[in-house]
Amino acid sequence: MALQYDHLQTDTIAAIATAMSEAGIGIIRISGPDAAAIGSKLYRTPQKNKTDISLWRPGTIRFGYIVEADQDGKENVIDEVMLSWMKSPHSYTTEDTVEINTHGGMFLMNRILALVLQAGARMAEPGEFTKRAFLGGRIDLARAEAVMDLISSRNEFARKTSAAQLQGAVSSKVKELREKILYEIAFIESALDDPENYTLEGYTNRLMGTCEYLEKEMHTLLSHADEGRILREGIRTAIVGRPNVGKSSLLNHLAGEERAIVTEIEGTTRDTLSETVRVGGVLLHLTDTAGIRQTEDKVEQIGVHRAQQALDRAELILFVIDSSRKLTVEDEEIAERIIENLREDKKCILLMNKTDLSPEVSQEQVEELFTKRGSECPPLLFCSLQTGEGTKELGEFVSELFHTGEIAEKNEIFLVNLRHQDAVKEALDSILLVKDSIENGMSEDFFSIDLMNAYRVLGTILGEAVEDDLVEEIFSKFCLGK
Ligand code: GDP
Repeated sequence: MALQYDHLQTDTIAAIATAMSEAGIGIIRISGPDAAAIGSKLYRTPQKNKTDISLWRPGTIRFGYIVEADQDGKENVIDEVMLSWMKSPHSYTTEDTVEINTHGGMFLMNRILALVLQAGARMAEPGEFTKRAFLGGRIDLARAEAVMDLISSRNEFARKTSAAQLQGAVSSKVKELREKILYEIAFIESALDDPENYTLEGYTNRLMGTCEYLEKEMHTLLSHADEGRILREGIRTAIVGRPNVGKSSLLNHLAGEERAIVTEIEGTTRDTLSETVRVGGVLLHLTDTAGIRQTEDKVEQIGVHRAQQALDRAELILFVIDSSRKLTVEDEEIAERIIENLREDKKCILLMNKTDLSPEVSQEQVEELFTKRGSECPPLLFCSLQTGEGTKELGEFVSELFHTGEIAEKNEIFLVNLRHQDAVKEALDSILLVKDSIENGMSEDFFSIDLMNAYRVLGTILGEAVEDDLVEEIFSKFCLGK
């Protein structure tokens, strides 16, 4: 199926492709039919001679100068540069491309970019270079999106999954599923057109088998998507517990600095504080909440409300208990709220804190908080945030609860992009409809409609038959110069 937007790019675009900060080098990228001409206007050889870059051997880089003529026509050197020349289609964008490697000062880069624009280039929009690579047919949409994810990845797992997507892991899986679907569509069409040579007898059994295979594969993609999201984006985590049990101390310990004010007066953590930390190879987006309890104090009430919100939003709850003091009614209330949350499939870890002091609470008593309410007691960790004893195990607990260790090891395909997930969900719905039609003994043309829909929506992942404005939207999220 041909791409919808085969409108050729006729203008030449330019932007600073490296970071907008002081650095050793900076790169100004020029892409489009006039790239060589614009480069030739500004570039001089080491002997200060003019040169026609379009005649250089493609894929070469040369030392020289970027110059600017003054009013009398005398050329002044703006910077010493390395200039590279890539000829269409062998470049990032598939277009003629010149890259000027300058020294990485922001003023300097902007100064040279201004010369490039004066010489006839247009300022590139965010993501426009990658968009041209897509429109030029070098990469499909899923791979273009991976470029953006790769740039914004914040950990090794995110980098790995984006790199795999860029290399076509998602695209080839999608293509494989589409080929299977297309085969069935083609078979049904042929059989309807040419019943003498193709028989549909017994066909539904085979189609059912294909649908089951597709269903299984799509299910796998979707279930890994969620695990993958956790590894890339982290887990929303709420720290809860009654006042003074050590919630702020936990936050500080994990953040490795005095982020929250630790104090001995009860109820002083009035607001919620947030911090992102890495625990057990996963990012935890922590919210330390004020002690959840009924209170007359206005400010603290706001805190309690936020704590409740944090609990509602959290995927992981860290429930801190002071093992050196008897359990109170507040612990009971918090346990009750947590149990409500556990029903929604959230996870929880209990931290029995202050093990350096003499114990007043037994493990059984804590377990009872949950078991007497008909709920299983979450995993329990004994620790002292004062001495650091037992705190290392928290990482193992997290990793075990979310299976993150196992997932990161596996070389699965992670459908991390929401747009892709939605498309697979819709395709799966269509396949389930086909199964329904088979079971209800519907005629073959019914199968075709839903198979066709599954084929089409899977195609949107690759960028086939997607609306122009969606393409605009996707690429506008890119950073400038990419
Ligand atoms: P929060 O109100 O739950 O945030 O509790 P904080 O983190 O402010 O801690 C309350 C008090 O308990 C502070 O004085 C901490 O120094 C102290 N504390 C926290 N963890 C421990 C611990 O493991 N052992 C001891 N002995 N004291 C602790």
